[in-house]
Amino acid sequence: MADPIVRVDDLVVSFPSRTSKTPVEVISGADLTVERGSCVVIIGPSGCGKSTILSCIAGLTPYAGGSITVDGDRVDGPDDHSSVVFQHASLLPWRTVLGNVEFGLESRRQIPKKEIRARAMEAIEAVGLAGYEDHHPHQISGGMQQRVNLARAFAVRAPLTLMDEPFGALDALTKELMQDELIRLMSMVSSSTVFITHDIREAIYLGDKILVMSARPGTIIAEFDSPFGADRTRAMTEDRR
Ligand code: ADP
Ligand code: MG
Repeated sequence: MADPIVRVDDLVVSFPSRTSKTPVEVISGADLTVERGSCVVIIGPSGCGKSTILSCIAGLTPYAGGSITVDGDRVDGPDDHSSVVFQHASLLPWRTVLGNVEFGLESRRQIPKKEIRARAMEAIEAVGLAGYEDHHPHQISGGMQQRVNLARAFAVRAPLTLMDEPFGALDALTKELMQDELIRLMSMVSSSTVFITHDIREAIYLGDKILVMSARPGTIIAEFDSPFGADRTRAMTEDRR
């Protein structure tokens, strides 16, 4: 089998405690791998450490033990291998839809201006927002804002996309539409994805592999393949549309 895009071995993460001098261990020896081109979903109760693991993979949270490699490189700080999508779109209110998607590209290594524009337009079209390029975030709905968020993440074409409950704040119908949108995007750009949710239905629909986390200790306690997995693109186009 090809080398996995993400390899997390025996990860340990501690945070300073508010009540004692001893740090609190939040992640206690978590292991996971993400095969290239696949979507791995991490599910577990609130506070069990899902966001912490994702943040470590993104290089945004330091870890006390174990190792993380993404695309063969050890993660020890923010890096260009991944792009992150959070629950709240956090768009720049003074920038247009186009400006927001371009922003994600501007902060990356030297990409020519012309290519930034072309990639942003392509991503906007891919999430169904063609025609809204010049709108500002306050002029579009929450679901559309989250589409801009997706476009911004995928325009970067990072080998790995990390998503932390991106649809958690959306209404049920918008959420379903966005899930289909995401499946389409994932197959279009053949990105590898780690997706966090506490919605089991969402996990089974989106994931090739589902990892279950527990809070005490903060580790992965179970792993299973989604029954949709390999077939989900077909399932979507034939059954849901
Ligand atoms: P989840 O995403 O599964 O809800 P988190 O990863 O956000 O869980 O948090 C796991 C645990 O770590 C929680 O108990 C949370 O309070 C704690 N925690 C998260 N971030 C910090 C931080 N920066 N400082 C201290 N404690 C934190
Ligand atoms: Mg979280």
